[in-house]
Amino acid sequence: MNKADSERLASALEQLGLQAVDAPKDADVVVLNSCVVRQSAEDKVVGTLGMMKSIKSRKPGQVLALMGCMVSPKADDLKARFPYVDTFMRPQQYEPLFDLLGERMGLDWEGCVGNLTPSRPSVSCYIPIIHGCDLMCTFCIIPYRRGRQVSRPISEIVREVDLLVQRGVKEVTLLGQTVDAYGHDLPEKPDLSDLLHSLDPIDGLSRIRFLTSHPMYMSQSIIDAMSALDKVCEHINLPIQAGDDEVLNSMRRHYTEREYRDLIDRIPSTIPRVSLSTDVIVGFPGETREQYERTVELIREVQFDKVHVAAYSPRPGTIAFRTMPDDVSQEEKAYRLHNLDEIQEDILSRKNSQLLGETVEVLVEGHKNGKWQGRTRTDKLVFFEDEGDALGELMNVRITRTSPWSLQGTPHATAHLRAAG
Ligand code: SF4
Repeated sequence: MNKADSERLASALEQLGLQAVDAPKDADVVVLNSCVVRQSAEDKVVGTLGMMKSIKSRKPGQVLALMGCMVSPKADDLKARFPYVDTFMRPQQYEPLFDLLGERMGLDWEGCVGNLTPSRPSVSCYIPIIHGCDLMCTFCIIPYRRGRQVSRPISEIVREVDLLVQRGVKEVTLLGQTVDAYGHDLPEKPDLSDLLHSLDPIDGLSRIRFLTSHPMYMSQSIIDAMSALDKVCEHINLPIQAGDDEVLNSMRRHYTEREYRDLIDRIPSTIPRVSLSTDVIVGFPGETREQYERTVELIREVQFDKVHVAAYSPRPGTIAFRTMPDDVSQEEKAYRLHNLDEIQEDILSRKNSQLLGETVEVLVEGHKNGKWQGRTRTDKLVFFEDEGDALGELMNVRITRTSPWSLQGTPHATAHLRAAG
C-alpha cells in the first residue's frame, strides 16, 4: 500500500514539474513514506530521519516531509521530536505538501495536479481500491492511522486501469487492508466480484490479482469470479494469524480455526490449481507452546504456497498494547518463528520440486543479474535467460531447477505470447 501511495505522490510531483533524483542529498524535496506496522519498521524511519537531519543542515532550502502511518491525526508529538521536518502527512493525504510547494514555487497546485495515476508505471502495478479498515484486530495499528474503510467507485478504478494499460501495464494488483470487503461501504453495495467482472474485459490487460483478503469476507461469489474470469490469477492470500481459537479470539479475528479450514477446503473445489498463502503471528500475548503447536499443525496440513511469519511486537496505541502483557519471551518467539520458517521451507521444497519439467506461464517483470524475472499466475518467482527483450511478455518457461523460494527455467523457442485481450 505504501509503494502505491509513493507512486501516486511521485506522479503528482512530476505534474508540478519535479524530477526524481538518485540520492536524498541531491533532492530539493524529500518525502519519507513511513510504515509502523512493526517496531523495527518505525526504528528504521527514525534512523532515516536522523540521517536527513544532517543532510538538511547542509541544504537548508530542502523540503522534508514525513508521510504515512507514523503520522497520526495529532502530529504534535512528531513536530516536537522532529522540528526540522517541514510537513507531516497522514496516509494518502498529500495536500499539506502540495500547499507548501505551491507557496514556495508560487504555483496554484490545484491547477497543475490532474489525476494521481502513475505516469511511468512498471509492468505490474498496485492499485489501492479501499482505504482504511473497519476491523479492530487487537494487535494492529492500521485502523487508527488509515481510518475506516472507504472504497473507490468501480467506474473510477476501471478508468484508472484503462489508463495504466495504455501506459504499458500488463498486470494490476488491487489493494486493500481487507480487499475482499470491497464495496460494502458504497451506496450500491457492489462487491469484489463485481469489480473483477468489470476489469476483466479491458483490452491489453493480462492479469488481475488482489491483496490482502480477510477470511470473514471471502465470499463464494468472489471465489466463483476467480474461477470464471481468465485474467484473475489463481492465488489468494488469506491470513490465519493463529491456529488456536483462544488466541484468535484475543486477536479479535472474527473466525475460528474450523471456519478458516472449511473456507480453505472449499476454495480448491472451485479453483483446482489455486495457490494459497497466509500470514502468522507467533508469540501473541498469552500464546502457550501448546497453542502455537496448533498453528504448526494447521500449516503442516494445509501446505500453503507461502507463509509470512512474524513474531509479535507490541505497538503502542493498539488494544493488545494497552490490555495484554507481552508475556512470551524473546527467545521463545525466536524459536517459534524459526521453527515455523523451517517447516515451511520443507513444504515449499517438496511442492516446488513437483514443478520440475513442467511448463509455466510467466509475466516478465524485470531483468536482474543477467536474468529475466517474473511470476507465474500462482505467484511463484521464476528466473530465466533470454537474448531478446522479454519485458512485459507472457512467456512459456520450462522449469529446470527449483528451490523453496524460486524457480529457474528455459523459455520455449516460440514462447513470446501475445498479451490476453
Ligand atoms: S483486518 Fe485486522 S490486521 Fe488487517 S488492517 Fe484491519 S485491523 Fe489490521
